[in-house]
Amino acid sequence: MRIVTIVGARPQFIKAAPMSRVLRRAHEEYLIHTGQHYDAGMSDVFFEELGIPQPDLNLGIGGLSNLEQVSRMMLALREPIEAQRPDWILIYGDTNSTLAGALTGRLLGVPVAHIEAGLRSYNPLMPEELNRVVADRISAALFCPTETAAANLAREGITDGVYVVGDVMADALLQNRERASTAVLEANDLHLGQYFLATVHRAGNTDDPEKLKGILDAFARLPLPVVLPAHPRLQRALEQTGLAIGPNVRLIPPVGYLDMLGLTSSARLVLTDSGGLQKEAYILGVPCVTLREETEWVETVEAGWNRLAGTDCARIVAAVEAALSETPQAHPELYGDGRACERIVAALES
Ligand code: UDP
Repeated sequence: MRIVTIVGARPQFIKAAPMSRVLRRAHEEYLIHTGQHYDAGMSDVFFEELGIPQPDLNLGIGGLSNLEQVSRMMLALREPIEAQRPDWILIYGDTNSTLAGALTGRLLGVPVAHIEAGLRSYNPLMPEELNRVVADRISAALFCPTETAAANLAREGITDGVYVVGDVMADALLQNRERASTAVLEANDLHLGQYFLATVHRAGNTDDPEKLKGILDAFARLPLPVVLPAHPRLQRALEQTGLAIGPNVRLIPPVGYLDMLGLTSSARLVLTDSGGLQKEAYILGVPCVTLREETEWVETVEAGWNRLAGTDCARIVAAVEAALSETPQAHPELYGDGRACERIVAALES
């Protein structure tokens, strides 16, 4: 098979890493980086640490509005896709790069395979929700991480080409767990089980000063240091609003994947609005408080390891207290056995 893979944002690099490795054993992959995330800390470090092959093409399209990004990506993707004439276009997750890849493939008549299909927040205000719904509607192969995701698709009438394969981020995590780094812990004087790890980057939180203030005020009231690797969107919001950050909060630049695995696995608890981090916290057996009103990863909440706290200061503090006082006994395997990529390649071959 000949595959064109389209990636552009941090979580997509992490998902593409185990996938590329399995794919390239027997097939040809042409890797396109849209440039959505472009600097060393948001892009290069993942290629280096995870051994992702260098992109065959970088479109260099970042830092624009959603509309401009998607439309420019589509125009720029046309020529390489026509030249490659792939059997499949592979897209991941729910970013602008996902949407642009799905639409361009469909308009050029190339079948699209969507990895991490069927995820839903049912929040129509999230840009990611639009990207997912459209990508799923027009993909020919839909690779779901969970049965819940496949049931979401079935409710929308999508049943053809749907495969429940497990989660490719779990593949990445299980393959790299042993390589987790403690360098950031040491550099910031953080100790096993004696700090909280936080990330905040959903536009709905960073771009609403009232919500961001609720989150930061809650961090300031927590009983342990909070290490906060700041996504560029959060950094911009902090500069623009000048909101106060508590003395217990260690604001640091975004970290690489191996540092992040180390930070997550040693944390007492995670506070986040990230999708991927909710899952990773679960797999690593670390309780999570999600800074949103809903989650795509509902199984983590049902299993008792994740609490939805929104952005209200008092609610977040209460959720942390509840999470610290009762950790569930049971920890079922929710995201697969680490072999999702192999199942995806087998399905594409068939
Ligand atoms: N991540 C990382 N460094 C950081 C923050 C996150 O390596 O400073 C990783 C995290 O462990 C997870 C992925 O990035 O694997 C999640 O990406 P992000 O939160 O940007 O996107 P989402 O999952 O919300 O789509």
